[in-house]
Amino acid sequence: MNTSTNPTIAIIGYGSQGRAHALNLRDSGFDVVVGLRPGGPTEVKALADGFTVKTPAEAAAGADLVAVLTPDMVQKKLYNDVLAANLKPGACLLFAHGLNVHFGMISPRADLDVVLVAPKGPGALVRREYEIGRGVPCIYAMHQDRSGRAEEFAKLYAAGLGGARANLIRTTFKEETETDLFGEQAVLCGGASALVQAGFETLVEAGYQPEIAYYEVLHELKLIVDLFYEGGITRMLEFVSETAQYGDFVSGPRVINAETKARMKDILSEIQDGTFVQRWVAEYDAGLPNYKKFQQADLDHPIEKVGRELRAKMQWLQQNAPQTAATQQDAGQATAKPSTHPIAETA
Ligand code: NAD
Ligand code: MG
Repeated sequence: MNTSTNPTIAIIGYGSQGRAHALNLRDSGFDVVVGLRPGGPTEVKALADGFTVKTPAEAAAGADLVAVLTPDMVQKKLYNDVLAANLKPGACLLFAHGLNVHFGMISPRADLDVVLVAPKGPGALVRREYEIGRGVPCIYAMHQDRSGRAEEFAKLYAAGLGGARANLIRTTFKEETETDLFGEQAVLCGGASALVQAGFETLVEAGYQPEIAYYEVLHELKLIVDLFYEGGITRMLEFVSETAQYGDFVSGPRVINAETKARMKDILSEIQDGTFVQRWVAEYDAGLPNYKKFQQADLDHPIEKVGRELRAKMQWLQQNAPQTAATQQDAGQATAKPSTHPIAETA
């Protein structure tokens, strides 16, 4: 890899992370090219931002460092069909999530450096903080260090994103992948939505109005999570009433108890031994039959209908409504998701 000057960087994919990385790295003085499928859904955006857009093969062939920022489930095919044959000898291959490499779905060529740089925040925040002159903390790892300088390249890239202004933490592909999957399954996406739905059902089944139940178990969750985010559970306890604190102490452990924790450990074991990923790949390859069913069940849950009606009457929500899965739908992708919601994006 050419290191007398800054490495030439190819960003493959221009979604949540891809766009933020490309813009920040360019502003940090790197030579950045974007690689996208011709006519793909984000090509127009990359061109409008002033980037040279090439095919993934051309972009990879011309770069010292290639960042794979497409959805995780298309990375194996992208690597095997396009990148393996086109990456320069000795190039640095970079991922923002370790899933494919850690579980052996991608086996990178032996001559490459293979690194991970994952900002701990959604793309929009990675860009915004950089523009303000701050940064989002990044975690980084090395899977393959052919040149002896893989760590240097990972840190250079993280610094270009603005991550070094905040905090850089070294991890491994294994730790990043397994903790990321566990977080989104047990706590963030899976745990939190199941908790909210069960709380809503409990109140509505007891005869309370769905509107009141919505405010109590979904809407007000933001207030609590914002306090966690700013100052941990300590800050939440400082802000809620004594009655709420006492109720928290005696009832929280009845909802999330030793049995729940045992199931969390089962979930973690299935992530660690590859069972989860094996099932997910099979589901993806089969055309997502169960995924679509599960997704529809969430969309059809009564809390969604009452939520839409109530949110339409909260004007501040209309002004900065985040993009929805529907408006984000990427023709080639099955896993469209909101792109401006911190939790959805971090996960
Ligand atoms: P995204 O869905 O927002 O964007 C994906 C981009 O890839 C789009 O530009 C899409 O058009 C393009 N693309 C799809 N298929 C392609 C193909 N075959 N060839 C070329 N381009 C293709 O994705 P994202 O959320 O930015 O995730 C990218 C990576 O970053 C993933 O590995 C993800 O796990 C990781 N990550 C995401 C976040 C986050 O907050 N979203 C945080 C940390 C890490
Ligand atoms: Mg995740």
